[in-house]
Amino acid sequence: MTTAPQPPAAPRLVLGIDLGTTNSLAAVRAGKGARVLRDRDGEPLVPSVVCFHPDGRTIVGRDAKALRLDFPERTVFSIKRLIGRSAAEVQQEATRLPYRVVAADRGLPRVQIGDQQWTPEAISALILQQVKATAEQALGQPVREAVVTVPAWFDDAQRQATKDAAQLAGLECLRILNEPTAAALAYGIDGSKDGTALVYDLGGGTFDVSILRIDDGVFRVLSTAGDTHLGGDDFDELLGQRILAQLPPTSDPYVLQAVRAAAEGLKIRLSDADRAELELDLGDRGAVKLAVTRAEFEAAIAPLVQRTLDCVTRAVKDAGLQLHELDDVVLVGGSTRVPLVRARLQALTGKVPHTGVDPDLAVALGAAIQADVLAGNDRSLLLLDVIPLSLGLETLGGAVQKLILRNSTIPTSVTEEFSTGVDNQTAVDLTIYQGERELAQDCRLLGRFQLRGLPALPAGLPRIAVTFLVDADGVLRVTAREQRTGAQASIQIVPTFGLTRDEVRKMMLDSIEHAQHDYLAREAIDTRNKAEAMVRGTQKALQMAELPPDQTYAVQKATKALQKLLAANADAAALKAGCDELTKLTATIADDVISSAVTKALKADEIR
Ligand code: AMP
Repeated sequence: MTTAPQPPAAPRLVLGIDLGTTNSLAAVRAGKGARVLRDRDGEPLVPSVVCFHPDGRTIVGRDAKALRLDFPERTVFSIKRLIGRSAAEVQQEATRLPYRVVAADRGLPRVQIGDQQWTPEAISALILQQVKATAEQALGQPVREAVVTVPAWFDDAQRQATKDAAQLAGLECLRILNEPTAAALAYGIDGSKDGTALVYDLGGGTFDVSILRIDDGVFRVLSTAGDTHLGGDDFDELLGQRILAQLPPTSDPYVLQAVRAAAEGLKIRLSDADRAELELDLGDRGAVKLAVTRAEFEAAIAPLVQRTLDCVTRAVKDAGLQLHELDDVVLVGGSTRVPLVRARLQALTGKVPHTGVDPDLAVALGAAIQADVLAGNDRSLLLLDVIPLSLGLETLGGAVQKLILRNSTIPTSVTEEFSTGVDNQTAVDLTIYQGERELAQDCRLLGRFQLRGLPALPAGLPRIAVTFLVDADGVLRVTAREQRTGAQASIQIVPTFGLTRDEVRKMMLDSIEHAQHDYLAREAIDTRNKAEAMVRGTQKALQMAELPPDQTYAVQKATKALQKLLAANADAAALKAGCDELTKLTATIADDVISSAVTKALKADEIR
């Protein structure tokens, strides 16, 4: 029997999707690079806008954007600002949006359209569905898998919500990829540009800066910084205020939307011209005639541009570099077309920014390249990212033991051993924090779970291995396992209250400002824990050891003195002196029962 030669299996098709605040689009790998997928009119960008038409239709993309003025309260944009966040967090944001955002179950935000409520995930899914449909039409075949990009500083909840949105849209999300990393991939695809690159991504609603090392086709993110509330929308807002100043005071959604659209048009014209004019006729709601020079516009936005530069400086410092050591500066995001942005960035870095890749398409193109790697079609690239803030576990006394440090490369996994703080404890609470400060009260609570079924043993003896695993998507899984019994519990962290980038920055600045105070507070807790463990260990050892009465008496006396100091909440210096005294006595005892018991008691940090 002969077999006919099989045709080579078709390569697996995975989309790269840039789910943007303003626009979304998809791309696929093509040859050595990637290509964006366009609709029938040749347009690659799907505006991230959904209109819930009063006639019952749900309209997405360009047609929805066109309806913004007709149905401002039923046309949803900037949904990315709400996804994965709590209603409380987005409250301020919501006051700027013409559609209604309400708090629903578990304090999560919903968009209220008539008598219906929509989750940010469901609205994002509608956008993704449109992107998927456009891609399928361009490719002439169905697609089920994708890599979806998010700002580098999206927290676990925001990443998870984005994944959920993809699933709702009928797409399996193989990887959540940081936008600047994707952009750099698009830029450095041939791998011949070894060196250090700064990716400056200023879009409609977010700003990200990343410092990347590119070596032989390997991309490594050295650091990231930015602001989730800074972008071209803010430039529009400033111009919008000038327009509104010429109108009678109003909160009319129709007027606000019209002004916003006019402001954006004015801004875009000012990227090419030194002066732009606006005539806006709002019928009986008023009319505006305005001329703005580029110099005026630049003066207005200069403080915002400076904020981005401050982030750049910080990211460079975090990467352990100096500005002059950067080899390349890469621009991403529509707002990098603003000439002032380019000029200021060039002045700061001393490098002419690269503009070879279209700033609107770079992220999707890079995502397509990564998608192809995950599809198994390209094994030449490796992608590494970092986590923005340290992750740790609360230990006895309210200190935080950091397991994964800020800017660690992900995926990463760290295991440390902990123990109990009380005799016969059969369950321990594991409380997970994020932040740079030493005490739990100053960090961000991420989640909490319990490990039960511990053997009833004296404090300090159970051995609990705690593993922090951050996967490639930046999602944290914490697992605790008691070594003797094998009892195990774990949690996947999806924090209810995600951090905004401003909060991250504040937490970092706080940690510097409070470093000395924190150090002393931490020392006080550690000393207290050590003293308590010493008291316990010594008491136990005394029961076991057969010591001459005078030595027993001396050790007992020193132990009692230390106990008294503990009961009186003595300061760290006094406790230290008490511990030293006890150590001196136990160290001179020939029989090493006491010191070994004490050492055992001191070995592992104790979980509450
Ligand atoms: P993105 O989020 O990357 O799609 O960027 C969208 C932002 O880029 C919006 O705020 C647009 O108004 C802005 N944008 C697009 N083109 C230009 C331009 N030529 N000049 C200034 N801003 C622009």
